[in-house]
Amino acid sequence: MAHDQYTFLDPVTRFDKVEPPKQHQPEPGLDSELDPRADLGEDSYRGSGRLAGRKALITGADSGIGAAVAIAFAREGADVALSYLPSEQSDAERIAALVRDAGREAHLLPGDISTAEASRTLVADAVEKLGGLDTLVNNAGKQVFCEKLEDLTDEAFDQTMKTNVYAMFWITKAALPHLPAGSSIINTTSVQAYKPSPVLVDYATTKAAINTFTKATAAQLAERGIRVNAVAPGPVWTVLQVTDGQPQEKITSFGHDTPLGRAGQPAEMAPAYVFLASAESSYVVGETLNANGGIPTP
Ligand code: NAD
Ligand code: MG
Repeated sequence: MAHDQYTFLDPVTRFDKVEPPKQHQPEPGLDSELDPRADLGEDSYRGSGRLAGRKALITGADSGIGAAVAIAFAREGADVALSYLPSEQSDAERIAALVRDAGREAHLLPGDISTAEASRTLVADAVEKLGGLDTLVNNAGKQVFCEKLEDLTDEAFDQTMKTNVYAMFWITKAALPHLPAGSSIINTTSVQAYKPSPVLVDYATTKAAINTFTKATAAQLAERGIRVNAVAPGPVWTVLQVTDGQPQEKITSFGHDTPLGRAGQPAEMAPAYVFLASAESSYVVGETLNANGGIPTP
């Protein structure tokens, strides 16, 4: 077992500086082919019953941040429904096995959530398989860079909106009738909401929308005992970056310009989601928890 997340270590060197070779995969890519492999906490995350008996639906749970969250949630005692695209079946099966190794249920729910119907079906299936729902992590995302606005097609803009914003809306709306008081919804925004890259106009716009959707729904749902919060990762080493999330030349120094001087690992994002899912954050509502290596945010 590697050092668990509670081990007192220097955050600068806790994880290696990622200096990956140039690489490219077609969307949505496979975590299993990322070089070097991302650290999802497989060998390190130590649970302590913080989510005992909980029932969680996580989108984009096959890889990267969502997969790290699925592993952490299971080790904290939650059963997990995993949403992902059909082409990611092999990644999803690996994560499901880790959830089951933790002694929890894993339910595999492949599908494209960029339509309302598929989003509603996903929630219905998750509720049926889990026997209820009290935790929703909206984490699936699309990020494809484009240098010039004139080259950003209407279709690409629309698909980024559908995946990042509309699916979150559809899934949250469908989940609401099932969520008892005490439930937690956690959305995944980004440092891009505050510091947009010139080549990520559509993506950064969705992340600002996710932040505001989080605060508005949090204000509305608080009286029902449903807490809505967000996590805003900085540069985290995932397959999203090598599936045209960044221009190739940026990949080799990905995250080097953060105050910590390195990219984050998905394993470092999971504890933020655990905190916001757990009842220990009962007075935290409408918050965006930045986990970005020190990049200043408003
Ligand atoms: P990832 O590629 O591992 O995860 C993204 C997942 O989204 C994919 O695995 C896929 O299953 C899912 N997805 C995409 N389109 C979908 C669709 N149409 N239907 C169903 N599922 C779909 O990459 P990641 O970096 O772990 O991304 C997770 C989230 O974190 C995203 O919302 C991303 O915007 C956000 N984020 C990532 C970073 C970073 O640097 N990696 C930084 C800030 C925010
Ligand atoms: Mg994936």
